[in-house]
Amino acid sequence: MKRTQKLIIGLLLTLGNLSAKATRAPAESASMSYQSAMSLARANDERRAKAVCNPREMHAISVASQIAYRSAGQLKMKALNASKLTSLNQTIRSRLFSAYQVLECSQNMIPRLTYTCHERMPHAYAQTFPYFGTQVWISRDFFFKLTDMQRAGTTLHESTHKCGAYNDTLINTQTVARNFKGNWTGVADFYAYWLENGFCIPGHNC
Ligand SMILES: [Zn+2]
Repeated sequence: MKRTQKLIIGLLLTLGNLSAKATRAPAESASMSYQSAMSLARANDERRAKAVCNPREMHAISVASQIAYRSAGQLKMKALNASKLTSLNQTIRSRLFSAYQVLECSQNMIPRLTYTCHERMPHAYAQTFPYFGTQVWISRDFFFKLTDMQRAGTTLHESTHKCGAYNDTLINTQTVARNFKGNWTGVADFYAYWLENGFCIPGHNC
């Protein structure tokens, strides 16, 4: 009972703090001068305008999306067919079937993704929220320096984040053999690796 009372008091104090914050904020903005509000609004508009991908950038994104869509279709069929090979052990086969499901979902997701040409975090080609929404944030400094195939790989990587592949371990030709030993189906970059380097069966021939 005492514990419950403490909890309730704690909750009320927390709510008090929250509402205190809520009542302070409008007071602050009311005290802001009209000139400051104008320049703040203008700066926000400029930031938003800069984040809109220009036509040349949209073209590169569209080319990458088309390659990613086509590749996801081809890779999902290869994963599905390989999952039926009786010469492979059951673990490998069930992982290949999971990969097929991720790719099936990703292929559907790719045409629905929307793009903002402004990075949310530095040092990433692109970012998106796992599972929720369709927004992808593109890093201008990195993404547009990639080849079409690398951009397509990045697009597929992001789309798999919507489809159960939430692990962000980066895969390249040096790390692939080591990383394919574990359960790789939830690692987004494996799908980008397949797109850029060709399909292989993890734990069997890669
Ligand atoms: Zn990622």
